[in-house]
Amino acid sequence: MKSSSRLLLTKPVAAENVPVVQPIYQTTLFRMPSYDAAVGAEHATRPSSYYTRWGNPTVSFLEKQLASLAETETAIGFPSGMSAITTVLLALNDPGDTLAVSTRIYGDSARFCAEEMRRFGYEVRFFVPEDTEQLEELLRRGCRSVYFETLSNPELILPDCKQICRLASRYGATSICDATFTPPGVLETSTLGADVVVHSLTKYLSGHFAVHGGAAMCSDALAEKIWRKQTLYGSCMDPHAAWLVSEGLKTIHVRVAQQNASAARIAEFLEMHPRVTSVRYPRLRSHPQHDRARELLDGGGGVISFSVAGPASNIARLLEAPQLIGLSVSLGGIYSVIEHAQSMSHSMVQEAGGEASGGSRPADDLFRLSVGLEDVDDLIADLAQALAKLS
Ligand code: PLP
Repeated sequence: MKSSSRLLLTKPVAAENVPVVQPIYQTTLFRMPSYDAAVGAEHATRPSSYYTRWGNPTVSFLEKQLASLAETETAIGFPSGMSAITTVLLALNDPGDTLAVSTRIYGDSARFCAEEMRRFGYEVRFFVPEDTEQLEELLRRGCRSVYFETLSNPELILPDCKQICRLASRYGATSICDATFTPPGVLETSTLGADVVVHSLTKYLSGHFAVHGGAAMCSDALAEKIWRKQTLYGSCMDPHAAWLVSEGLKTIHVRVAQQNASAARIAEFLEMHPRVTSVRYPRLRSHPQHDRARELLDGGGGVISFSVAGPASNIARLLEAPQLIGLSVSLGGIYSVIEHAQSMSHSMVQEAGGEASGGSRPADDLFRLSVGLEDVDDLIADLAQALAKLS
């Protein structure tokens, strides 16, 4: 055999002892031991070592971690939060079905429902999540699924999540909730009774702003339906991305505990500041669902929304003045970031708002701050000097 063939046929080396960290199986293919095994994998559900678009041990490891966190039978990894949301919505509904979708959701999720789902022949009806009577009326008229966010982006509205899931179940609809804003340490989603919990792993769960990812946590039966569409749409997770999320996930409880504590202090600081006109944070007494937050949440999370007084020129000034806090759109990671919701993360929500366009448009003066792991006194000092620069 020539060296070129010998080189390509060199077998991967398996570790003699169990590695502490899950190895990355950075491969698209697995060599099958027999024709029978290949045909078996071809007809199997979620084979984990046949073809990586169908499954991969590194991705499966992350899925096991996620299912144990969420206390669900299983989980499915995706390359982004949006791919998890879009695949789940398409997999669990058929064209012609009606979906009840909350108006308080991430801009691109709203846009996907209002534009794409309708284009594909789904009936999409938006409901205000604080108004469960409106939801019940939609369910009475026949809805296949209900889609909502636990803590809404960016206004941090906390709907009655348990009641939404109860109503969906009473009318035989599938409840799908995006829990990106309420990671473990803020909310145990197993208490809600949702059929499917989706997450953007890009945020708290990976935690380091190094990787995109998404997940759906649910029963084996729903996962099989989702997986069949996932493989068809090609929205599979790359093993290296799964590995990065999996390593980040191991420190989630420590990270979120510090984010809860720091954000609570910063929210109090902002609420007392003369330049700040309003602050939205679940741990503050002024939060419109404060009692529900006390009952449902273990912590307020790392995100604070707030408004400042003054002219529109204050927007750029407040975003550019911080030294420690970065001007960025994401949230939930170890670095603190600030953004202007209306012109950045939610710029896609159309001006008109309401039924046709999906999500509601954030107020002109709403800033979203995501608190990371920097020292909390340094963060407060940074905000204080930035607020002092406003006119
Ligand atoms: N869900 C929520 C609540 C989000 O805030 C985002 C992104 O900001 C997404 C989903 C989409 O996640 P990704 O950017 O990983 O696709």
